[in-house]
This record gives sequence, structure tokens and C-alpha cells, in this order.
Amino acid sequence: MKKEKRIVLMGAPASGKGTWSKVITEKYALEHLSTGDLLRKVREEDTELGRKVRDYMDRGALVPDDIVIGMVDDLLTRGEAADGFVFDGFPRTLAQAEALDIILERHGKSLDLVIDLDVDEKILIDRIVYRRVCSDCGQPYNLKTAAMRPKVEGICDYCNGRLIQRSDDTEETFMKRLKEYHDQADPLLDYYQKQGKRVSFSISELTDETRREMFELIEEKLS
Ligand code: ADP
Ligand code: ZN
Repeated sequence: MKKEKRIVLMGAPASGKGTWSKVITEKYALEHLSTGDLLRKVREEDTELGRKVRDYMDRGALVPDDIVIGMVDDLLTRGEAADGFVFDGFPRTLAQAEALDIILERHGKSLDLVIDLDVDEKILIDRIVYRRVCSDCGQPYNLKTAAMRPKVEGICDYCNGRLIQRSDDTEETFMKRLKEYHDQADPLLDYYQKQGKRVSFSISELTDETRREMFELIEEKLS
């Protein structure tokens, strides 16, 4: 099996993208690259760029391609993640996908695999509408999942704080976010489908078994 792995992880909100990124990067000692995390750092900087990024993020808009591509180019050209990465939240546009191919090619590398976390819409909706968070410590709970239910109804297991439902955790708001996701992601998934790099993984939960299935899928594709 190839040791270096360059993977893009795609998935709707609540698909478990963050969790799976962590599982995969830890298993294969890869770098987890989240453009959301990188941009949240940049926006704190007291610079022209910081202000610009802050302005887009506060409006809930995508940061312009040239900024995001420049950031990724710098990072890969500095030799970070030289032993492989899992990209999370990037690419978000076709221009970004094409730029990533060009940047990697310049370094004699290429993307190996694009994993599409294709989780059933009903499951995603349940994750959102049954989600509760502790109003004091932020611990997440889910009333639909036995392993994520609080021991005492409405009360945080850790700090006795009150559990609340966040105002944007409604089906209506979520369906809007889901549509936005598909508008962005579907052209990218087509792009990678044509390159023969896309694989779908329709997991619902992280268990020992689904973890093993994910590793098998990756190792089969990268053998
Ligand atoms: P979210 O799921 O809220 O989009 P992220 O952490 O992925 O969470 O991104 C947070 C914000 O950062 C986005 O709303 C967007 O403004 C910006 N961002 C992240 N990744 C990209 C990207 N690849 N291209 C453009 N903007 C991005
Ligand atoms: Zn709490």
C-alpha cells in the first residue's frame, strides 16, 4: 500500500466529516487540512488580508478563490503535509479543484482519492433536530442516539447545565444549508467522478465496523 495519501473528504453538514477526518488522519499519520480552521486563524490577524477574510466569513459567504488557493499553495509549497493529507472543506469550487490539481502537479504529486460521505438525508435531519447542547459547557447530545443521550433528561452529564436546542437546529434551516451544500458540492463530485477519483461511503455512524470498512475502502483504492 502507498504510504503517502492525498485525500479530499466531502460531506454535507452533519455527515460526520470532522469525525472521519480525524479517524483517517490518525490511522495513516496524515495532516488534517481544514480551510475553515485556517481561515479562522487568518481572520484574527490585524492585516488587510485578515480584515478581508473576516468580512466574507461574517457574511456567511465563501472567501474568494484567489485567497483560498493562495493559502493552500503556500502551505503545500512550504512542504507542509508532504507525507499526505486529508482536505476538509477544500475544494469548495471548481476553480479550487482545478488549482489543487495544478499545485500538486507542480510538486510532482497528485490527488489519490475523493471520499464522498453520502449519508441519507433523513439521518442528517435527525442528527440536527434531535441535537441538544449544554448551555454551560457546550457538550453536544443527541436524543435519538442511545450513546449520546443525557443520563437525566434535559441535564448535562458533566456540569449539570441545562440542555438547549440551538435556534438554527431546525429542519427548515438545515434543508437550506443542505441545498447550499449540494449546489457547491455536486459539480465537484462530477469533476472527480470523471477523473475516476471519487468513491462514495454511505455510513451513518462511526463504529468499529464502519471504521474498518472505511480503512478497507481506502486501502483497496490506494493499493
Ligand atoms: P461551514 O460548514 O460553516 O462552511 P467551515 O469551517 O468549513 O464551516 O468554513 C467556515 C467558513 O470559512 C465558510 O463559511 C467560508 O466563509 C470559509 N471557507 C472555508 N473553506 C473555504 C473554501 N474552500 N473556499 C472559500 N471559503 C471557505
Ligand atoms: Zn455541561
